[in-house]
Amino acid sequence: MLEAVHCYFHQAADVLDLTPKVRDILFMPARVIKVAFVEEDDAGKLMHFTGFRVQHNNARGPFKGGLRYHPTMNEDHVSALANLMTWKTAIVDVPYGGAKGGIDCDPSQMSRFEVERITRRFVERMKEVIGPAIDILAPDVNTNADVMAWIMDEYSRYHGFSPAVVTGKPLHLFGSEGREEATGRGVVYALEEALRDRGEELADTTVAMQGFGNVGSNAARLIAEHGGKIVAVADHMGGVSNAAGLDIPALLAWASEHRTVAGFPGGDAIDGSEIITWPADVLIPAALEDAIDENNASDVRARIVVEAANAPTTPKAAGILHDNDVLVVPDILANAGGVTVSYFEWVQNIQRFRWELDQINAKLEKIMRRAYASVRDVAKQKNCDLRTAAFVLAIQRVGRAALSRRSIHETIDLS
Ligand code: NAD
Repeated sequence: MLEAVHCYFHQAADVLDLTPKVRDILFMPARVIKVAFVEEDDAGKLMHFTGFRVQHNNARGPFKGGLRYHPTMNEDHVSALANLMTWKTAIVDVPYGGAKGGIDCDPSQMSRFEVERITRRFVERMKEVIGPAIDILAPDVNTNADVMAWIMDEYSRYHGFSPAVVTGKPLHLFGSEGREEATGRGVVYALEEALRDRGEELADTTVAMQGFGNVGSNAARLIAEHGGKIVAVADHMGGVSNAAGLDIPALLAWASEHRTVAGFPGGDAIDGSEIITWPADVLIPAALEDAIDENNASDVRARIVVEAANAPTTPKAAGILHDNDVLVVPDILANAGGVTVSYFEWVQNIQRFRWELDQINAKLEKIMRRAYASVRDVAKQKNCDLRTAAFVLAIQRVGRAALSRRSIHETIDLS
């Protein structure tokens, strides 16, 4: 995955004609932290885990990024995700840098107490290098508002009351209205803009969705509320389709009870792997990385792909989609609604003041549509695809800040 991010970064750096020195300054992470835990499980047996925090760049503000619990977490993986965060925060122009964290555990095989214990241990080990003005954490795959509450509680034990060390907290514990659904909501704004570019509307659109967790389920709900038709959904256990459109409120209730969309009676069962090539106008990968690769990209039938997940498309697949005239809205633009409302949460925590939901959604909408328009303008100006344009815009913003903060023997045009 790090190779994919490296490849996308350098494609944009080529457009900007950046020197090797500037590329290195912008691509290399500022700090990589790795910690080992040996903790007792509920039965007294030892559990071994490794935790990571990669702080990529803080030229534009404190490091910011999610914390993921997944067995595949390793240094490269977390580095790639941290790198993407730097560009994402720049695209929506929130005053943050980029970071990411992860623990190589599988919470589905652990009790709530075990997850809490390793979360607290992670914070205890990281407490000197995270903080409201240093590095702010957030939810990601397999972490949620409960985990964020434990992070806030543990960090506050050492540093005093500090809700702004983490976003995505429960509403009753200094969380923000609208944060839970923010990434999905942002995905829908990005989709609407992409459809508008093609002279189409959400109400006439069919959508296939991979992943029905925080991002996928909220995006699906909002799309259905706007009249779009979700014709297939898949998760890690299987999938379901209905050409007439799935009943999303019923599917949400099913998934919350069964922890999967598989077995939902309101449609036909499908194999999860079929979702990427499902016949629909739009494909939204909202699960994990590398979902669209060189093996399935040429069979994608959607005309628009909105990358709700991080890095769901490999570079080879991106080339195939481009050749097939599939419009791809890249992750660092499409899923930036989450970090945008995380920023609003952080601001509210610092101000000790609460904003109302309609205010938050209005600001989110404005930022997402403006970000999309800025990326589209760069794409036209540089005659490149939206992903390259998004990286170009972000590199310009981060580059300008980074180079203003230090003297380097280099003159480059990042205007
Ligand atoms: P989540 O844990 O809530 O949900 C993940 C979903 O993916 C689940 O439905 C799971 O079943 C499904 N999934 C996992 N493996 C799969 C597989 N092999 N095939 C099909 N489905 C699979 O996670 P989330 O927060 O919704 O995050 C999803 C993606 O969005 C991730 O790439 C994450 O980095 C990205 N993202 C999340 C946020 C956020 O605010 N949560 C913000 C930006 C980006």
